[in-house]
Amino acid sequence: MTFAPLAAVPAPEPGAGPWPANLTRVDGDLHLAGHSLTALAEEGTPLYLVDEADMRNRARAWVSAIGDGDVYYAGKSFLTPTVARWMVEEGLSIDTASEGELRTALAGGVPGERIGLHGNSKSDSTLRLALESGVGRIVIDSPGEVDQLAAIAEETGTVAPCFVRVTTGVHAGGHDFIATAHEDQKFGLSLATGAAREVAVAMSENPHLELLGLHSHIGSQILDSEGFAAAASAVIDFAAELFGIGIDVPEVDLGGGYGIQYTGLDPEPATEAEMIAGIRSAIETACERAGIPVPRLSIEPGRSISGPPGMTLYRVGATKDVMTDDGVRRYVSVDGGMSDNIRPALYGADYTALLGRDSSADNVPSRVVGMHCESGDIVVRDVALPADVRRGDLLLVAATGAYGRSMASNYNLVRRPGVLAVSEQGTSWLVRPETWDDILGIFPDR
Ligand SMILES: *Cc1c(COP(=O)(O)O)cnc(C)c1O
Repeated sequence: MTFAPLAAVPAPEPGAGPWPANLTRVDGDLHLAGHSLTALAEEGTPLYLVDEADMRNRARAWVSAIGDGDVYYAGKSFLTPTVARWMVEEGLSIDTASEGELRTALAGGVPGERIGLHGNSKSDSTLRLALESGVGRIVIDSPGEVDQLAAIAEETGTVAPCFVRVTTGVHAGGHDFIATAHEDQKFGLSLATGAAREVAVAMSENPHLELLGLHSHIGSQILDSEGFAAAASAVIDFAAELFGIGIDVPEVDLGGGYGIQYTGLDPEPATEAEMIAGIRSAIETACERAGIPVPRLSIEPGRSISGPPGMTLYRVGATKDVMTDDGVRRYVSVDGGMSDNIRPALYGADYTALLGRDSSADNVPSRVVGMHCESGDIVVRDVALPADVRRGDLLLVAATGAYGRSMASNYNLVRRPGVLAVSEQGTSWLVRPETWDDILGIFPDR
């Protein structure tokens, strides 16, 4: 893995960049919704924190931006029964992509009709559970799934509510999108080769399936509506083609991938309202051109709801100064790492970190690393931290709420940290911290 050089800049202070709305500094110490991090750290570190009010506000912002449409929170970014309940309380539905996510949404009391199910390879038992739970949409992702799902629908005496996931050839990330990305990937059914059309036709002829809409997901960390607009227009052209052969497409789901700020250097993404306005206008233009009615719109934001409200609180361990070609870099080790945040190692993701206490020391170029047996075990690749950082300090990493705990592992047989919801009303565990018994309990011969 090669990393582009990043200037060693300090993290922005609370109130700016990637930090959640209710992080503040009081007399030098960081506080979340009125709770000092020093006190929160008594729960043990590493510790994932979630600013509940911020997460709810972000969810609500999408709901109010979309108006007459549906927001499916992408549960894979971070889902617990309580989080599922928060989302439903704020007017969202839940997008799941596995039996575990489906069961978690159901455990949170989410009504079946407000759950969507994704997956490029769903098992019979998962589909059966989805139909028995009355899920609102199952997103078909391969030709064989038509017969697979129809058989289970027949057996359970249901009609399966379906979307077809299409690949539009649009791939987006950041400000850029590619209009004809190569489609050599496992998700979706190609518009270009006619695979999507064949599946839609097969579904429309099957009495056990009901085609409710088309689905497209074009990438992640997308900062403006351009790529979504291009995809929407391709999806509408396909809807018009289906309309022409008597197949109705009542709804279009444009997936997730709405970007967030991870560091102070990341540009601010478009607002929820700007995103939706850009998408809606592309859909309306394409529908007018094609002469078809405007379908209902749904989206599936994940990280833009769960990312910035979440942070990871670590305790500093060993520090070390290492000579590099560009000068001295200070390695600051923390008590977690790639087991609680795999994204830097997996795809070179950047994060930023703040020291938990005030310091008047000069900043030094630093790299925050974990305690795992991999040199790629990086938490924050490049950040300026005060030169007096020492063992026992608290270090707070921003925007780890999405794909942090949800991708966590027990590598090196570490205990996965708990996730603590924090609000002015108090604190409560969303996920309890693992214990040594959880670790040893996986061995039958213990
Ligand atoms: C991953 C994914 C999402 C959510 O992506 P974010 O980047 O977290 O918004 C939504 N829909 C589908 C189909 C996905 O695969």
